Amino acid sequence: MSRHVIDPAPVPSLAIRGSAARFPVRRVYCIGRNYAAHTVEMGGDPDRDAPFFFQKNPDDLDQSGDFPYPPRSSDVHHEVEMLVALGTGGTDIPLGEALDRVWGYAVALDMTRRDRQGEAKAARHPWEIGKAFARSAPCGPLIPASEIGHPASGAVSLTVNGTVRQEGDLGQMIWKVPEMIAYLSNYFTLAGGDVILSGTPSGVGPVTRGDALTARIEGLGAFDVRVV
Ligand code: MN
Repeated sequence: MSRHVIDPAPVPSLAIRGSAARFPVRRVYCIGRNYAAHTVEMGGDPDRDAPFFFQKNPDDLDQSGDFPYPPRSSDVHHEVEMLVALGTGGTDIPLGEALDRVWGYAVALDMTRRDRQGEAKAARHPWEIGKAFARSAPCGPLIPASEIGHPASGAVSLTVNGTVRQEGDLGQMIWKVPEMIAYLSNYFTLAGGDVILSGTPSGVGPVTRGDALTARIEGLGAFDVRVV
């Protein structure tokens, strides 16, 4: 007999490449402005603006291959990013131990209602409506670090209908994966199941219904998303 007064929501989880087992997701942290060229295209100063974090919801992650265009926006942008999935966590994790916490990696998209995000920025309001909407983080299968190691460089790209829109390299991240983990652990107790979206290179832009997106990271492969 359940001790909950209503049925609990299912635990969000990610499919894993080559396995029937799934990765249960606890929290989703996202870094902003982690590539200098993207900081510039968003009107920031890469020499002055420190990266910062926001969150999406665990059930915003979506591996269906469809991205439903969200309501009440007419300017929804793609941001291709590497997803970092933690197998263990902790508080005040030393930089040199941070990668030991990583269970795996995936290619992901931080889909963004840019119009609503812009309004929030102007009003100094939080970003949830712009960032943390339903199915706002399409992603490919999770790939165990035990198979591929810890990619610190490698081409990142996003094509829309076959045209390259975003290009960068993991090596261009301002804050590297171990630095993000160590920093977050200074403010939050991290745990297995937490994932980090590690920021997008330049070239973000709008999508429309019917668009076919292909997100690719060297060493992690590619996944396709249709805007519906
Ligand atoms: Mn992003």
